[in-house]
Parts: sequence; C-alpha cells; structure tokens
Amino acid sequence: MKKIISLIFHSFIVLSVASSQETPIIPTPAKVTYHDGVFTLRKDALVVAPSSLSSVAMLFTDDINSLNDYHLTVVAKGKTEGNIKLLSDRNIVHTEGYQLDILPGSVTIRASSDAGFYYGLQSMKQLIINGSGALKAQTITDFPRFQWRGVMLDVSRTFMPLNLVKRYIDHFSLYKLNVVHLHLTDDQGWRIEIKKYPLLTEIGSKFDPEFNRMGGYYSQDEIRDLIKYAHARNIMLVPEIEMPGHAVAAIASYPDLSCEGTRPKIHTFFEGPSIHEEIFCAGKESTYKFIYGVLDELCELFPSPYIHLGGDEAPKATWKKCPDCQKMMKDNNLGNEEELQSLFVKKIGDYLRTKNKTLVGWDEIIDGGMLAGNEVLMFWRGWKLSEVEKEVKAGFRVVCTPTTHCYFDYPYKSISTRTIFDYDPVIPGTSEKNYLGVQANFWSHIDRSENNIDKQLFPRALGLAETAWSNAENKNWNAFKTKALLNISYLKERNIFVYSDSTLIQ
Ligand SMILES: [Zn+2]
Repeated sequence: MKKIISLIFHSFIVLSVASSQETPIIPTPAKVTYHDGVFTLRKDALVVAPSSLSSVAMLFTDDINSLNDYHLTVVAKGKTEGNIKLLSDRNIVHTEGYQLDILPGSVTIRASSDAGFYYGLQSMKQLIINGSGALKAQTITDFPRFQWRGVMLDVSRTFMPLNLVKRYIDHFSLYKLNVVHLHLTDDQGWRIEIKKYPLLTEIGSKFDPEFNRMGGYYSQDEIRDLIKYAHARNIMLVPEIEMPGHAVAAIASYPDLSCEGTRPKIHTFFEGPSIHEEIFCAGKESTYKFIYGVLDELCELFPSPYIHLGGDEAPKATWKKCPDCQKMMKDNNLGNEEELQSLFVKKIGDYLRTKNKTLVGWDEIIDGGMLAGNEVLMFWRGWKLSEVEKEVKAGFRVVCTPTTHCYFDYPYKSISTRTIFDYDPVIPGTSEKNYLGVQANFWSHIDRSENNIDKQLFPRALGLAETAWSNAENKNWNAFKTKALLNISYLKERNIFVYSDSTLIQ
C-alpha cells in the first residue's frame, strides 16, 4: 500500500513538473485548462486583428519575428485556421484580463481592452520563447491580483539614458509589470526639463566638476516619447519630484528655495552626507509657487493620475531656526516641525487635487497626521509595519515596497528572488482592497554600469511579477523555478546581464 501511495505521489510530482514545463508563463496565470493535441505555429502565420488592435498585434509580431526566422504578419481579415485571432469580448470584465484559447487548429485571444490583448500576446510570446513552436492545447483565463505592479528606477543618483529605460520597459512588460516609477530628482541631480525653471537642468542636472561624474536629464520631448513607448506596452510612468528633503539639486539651482538661501554643492552620494540638512523652506510662499510651477508642467506631461512627491528623510534643523517656517507654524497653530511637514504635504496634495491628480508619498507623509486620507502611501519602512497596518485599517490606500522584501539595490544575500516571490503584501486582518499593489525599488546611489543594473533587477523582477500578478494560492516555488530558468536563458539571449542562477535555489 505504501508503495502504491508512493507511486501515486511520485506520478503527481512528475505531472506537476510536466505541467509547469508545458505552460512556462511568468507570472502564473489565474487558470489553465489543458486540452488534447498541439497547435503548431507556422513561421508565416497571420495575426488576424481589427485595425484598432493592429499596433498591439504588431508589437507582438515584431518581437517574434526578431527571434529565429519567424515572419508573422498582421492582417485585418483572414481565416482563423492555423493563425492567431484577436477577438474583442465584453464578457472579459477585468480591464487587464484576457482569455487565450490554444486549440489544435487555431489560437484565439479574447479581451476587452488593449491591455488585455497585450497581455494575452505576452503569454503567447512566452510560450513561443520557451517552447518550440508546438504549443500544447490549453485555455488560459487570466487577470491580475493587484492593479499596481511596479518598479522604481532611481534615475537621479545614476542617470539612466532613455534607451536603457526603454529596455527595462520591454522586459518588465513581458512579465506583466505595469508601473515604472521614475525617481526624477534628489540631492544628486534634477533629471527632467522644466521650461519655467531652466536652471534646474542647466545647473541641477550636473554634479559639481570636482566630483567627476556624468549627469544628464530628459527633455520634455524625450519624456513624451518615453510615455508613448511605455503606454504602448501597458506601463504607466509615475513621476516623482522629491520634497521637502532630498532637494539639493533644486536648491543648488535656485538657492532661495531653502531657508538659508545659500548654494550647496551637488556631489555624489558617497562624497557628501547621505541625508542633507538643506531642504525646501516650508514657510515662504515663493517655495510653494515654485513647486506649483513644476507640478503644472509635470501634470501636463504625464497622463498618470498619480504624482509622487517623495516626502521621506527630511531633517528639520533648518526649519527650527528659520523665521519663515516658525511663522508658518504659528499662523497655523502647529505644535512641531513634523506637523509643518504634514501641512506642506497637504498643501501640495490639495493643489494636485485641483488638477485631478492623486498624491503618492513615501510613508513618512503620515507622520504629522494632517492628511486628507485620499493620498496613496508608499510603504517602504519595513520596521514600521504596525503603523502602516493602522493607516490601512483607517482607509489609506497603499503600495507596498518594504525594505524587507522589495529593495532591489540590496545584495541578493539579503533579498533573493525567493524573498520577493514569497512576499504577500496584505497584512493579515486588513482588507486587500486597500492595497493598490506592490513595487520593487532600485536606488542607484552606488554608481552602476548597465550590466550592474541588469544584475540587480533580474531575475528578481520575475519573482516580483509573480507576487504582484498571481493569486497567492497559485504560487508554487518549484514550478516557478523551472519556469524562471527557462526565462533566464531567454533574457541572456537578449543581452540582459542576469545575476547568477544559483540565487534561485534558496
Ligand atoms: Zn524656512
């Protein structure tokens, strides 16, 4: 009897592994049903798509045609037999959901939005990449667990050229990540053109010469180009302008923005204090006028409903000595400088609301206790879990990016692919609906080459995708590992400098 049970158990394991090999899609789809037979993709197959979907379809065919010797073509009308057909279907209710039917005679992707079709095609692409063109017949019904599946790129400390950001967008979107949060400003550099304040890029985008390090910035035309590129791949770009702290690059450009009005140097992270005393003055009306001017251009440029204003690590020593800051506190009956920061954040949030934008901030924005409640908290202080739990219970929406699981600048020995794979952002006893989602943060204070950045992001981004998209009950580490190894081979072929595979075996 024991032998029989053992045999049954062994067969189950073999079947489970075989199944994971048959559907090597990351993140794991919500539901897969297998059918008899296989669909063989001809090298010259057609993708039959209505003209409204031709650009989504062509992103797919361009990608596939760049592999081996495929020459797939997008057509508006054509027979279904032997081809891939995109079919609008209002019954697919989730805006990012899709149904992929692979039958021996044809493939059909149903969705009700461009995003759904894009993701159905990404699943198809992964099956082709990780198979041989002979795809096991199956029906995949899929939709995400979380609406915010992000990666933060710190383009301030190490400026990342436009093409590098696009390369990451390509590979994040293959794994159905849908937010790239651009940390555009910090003490080490201002990286976006603001036409009203040209010195921000003339001065603020460059390190002081003695530090001998490259700066750079994105023009507004480049940002428009990047937004378009990201949007086509269902990625929302969320801009962050840090305030009131981490603002040395802005203050070096316009010294009156600080309490003392003197110009600090723009130096590299390791050649200056890690957290600067110089921060925006919260007492002068001219500071707010400047910030509103920057936000006017930002809101015009970025279609994202979210604008991130930072809000973390703001030392208050200068505010304690500043007559303008102290007067602002007195006029508003504030008891301490933390409350002044809260007022500062509230004023910015109110301004953003007039532009139909929602403020996102690092979780320090809750410290002064004056927020309206519709702001989004980006939870990063892993040691403040109980405080975040309290705020989530009070109704705040949160994006989880804790230092304990989501800091992709940390070495693999402290945060492995398994660490982020095993992470469940929902704190027990809280409502999942308050969680917008999960995000990895890549801080670039260490000067990194492109290969180094690749290595920090991959393969951990695959574990992130699984946590952000897949239902918790569908996650299986052993199955994921098999799929991840296949995907790592593909990423290497695409010249992504993936960190050693051994990190997966933990
Ligand atoms: Zn001040």
